[in-house]
Amino acid sequence: MTAPELPTEPSAAHTIGEYQHGYEEESRLRGFRSGCGFVTATWGLRCPRCGQLDLEEFALSGKGHVVAFTVQTVPADEFVNDAPYAYVLVELEEGGRISGWMPAIRAVTDLAIGDRVRWVPSYKPGVQFEKDGAGAGR
Ligand SMILES: [Zn+2]
Repeated sequence: MTAPELPTEPSAAHTIGEYQHGYEEESRLRGFRSGCGFVTATWGLRCPRCGQLDLEEFALSGKGHVVAFTVQTVPADEFVNDAPYAYVLVELEEGGRISGWMPAIRAVTDLAIGDRVRWVPSYKPGVQFEKDGAGAGR
């Protein structure tokens, strides 16, 4: 009888602390790519699709399009001076989805599914987006 195989440590070490520091202090938005093709903008050590540990870390452009959103009129404490604003789910150009917020969206008619958006580095918590390209200023 053989012992069960133990999981190995990822060879490309990345910690959630490094990820957060990169985002908050160095304005870097990073994604992770698995050998199976899965891409995510959410920090993790293991691919949620195939279980691979050795994820490739890469810089995201921060550009994408809105796949879902809602307008928040009752904000969290950090956003009390920004309400109303949009809470958005963005599909990034490189693949993967990330949630964030858009301070200039005051009503559901100010934004649409499919609108192009880009990431804006901000001192505020959360991943901030603004409209990008042809859809801007609608
Ligand atoms: Zn995978």
